Amino acid sequence: MNILFFGPNGSGKGTQGAILKDKYKTPHIESGAIFRENISKGTELGAKAKAFIDKGDLVPDEITIPMILDRLQQPDCKNGWLLDGFPRNRNQAVKLDEALKAAKLDLDIVVEIILDRKIARDRIMGRRLCVNDNNHPNNIFIDAIKPNGDKCRVCGGELKTRADDQDEAAINKRHDIYYDTVTGTLASAYYFRDLSQKTGKPRYITLDGTPSVKDVAAELVSKLG
Ligand code: AMP
Repeated sequence: MNILFFGPNGSGKGTQGAILKDKYKTPHIESGAIFRENISKGTELGAKAKAFIDKGDLVPDEITIPMILDRLQQPDCKNGWLLDGFPRNRNQAVKLDEALKAAKLDLDIVVEIILDRKIARDRIMGRRLCVNDNNHPNNIFIDAIKPNGDKCRVCGGELKTRADDQDEAAINKRHDIYYDTVTGTLASAYYFRDLSQKTGKPRYITLDGTPSVKDVAAELVSKLG
């Protein structure tokens, strides 16, 4: 199963992504996480990407597109993948579509979480990352996943913030990119929505991201069937 996963920063993508990953037993490939791993390991790719990420800009397509297309060719992706954070603009969508066609691969499902921009912003600023596992959900503004004091609610680990999560100008810039329906991330989602309407493939699922993470998860599970 090949799946694309869209949602603005702050829409609970981590949690919903884990559901998709478990149901379809696919690797969860997050472009942002790949960049962060490269930065922490001090690789050349990480050094190139860091300045863009810190400002909330997209890493240029010449770096990002080959990195992701190469990742999708790794052995663990043989039976499918869940791609999260890519494509992030219309050009990336077109290039991904072309690469899939060339490899005779289908895109099966696209999930889009729809969330108001202001709610998304508050959620990002409240997000806390567990040093033991980035997928442990902690947010000081969301009751259901409030940290335990100043420790991770899942494992009690130390919590930290991501520098780009606390920078309002950077968040705005990221949301400008996400909510742009002409060339930005929504444009790339709508590229596949149009394809879905024209050809019946991929299956395009929308989720209302406003309710609690648990309720959104329930909607996702019911829509996946
Ligand atoms: P995320 O963890 O998805 O919020 O990504 C963190 C940062 O990594 C983004 O703000 C971008 O700077 C960069 N990034 C992640 N995915 C992409 C992409 N598909 N294209 C360009 N830059 C990206």
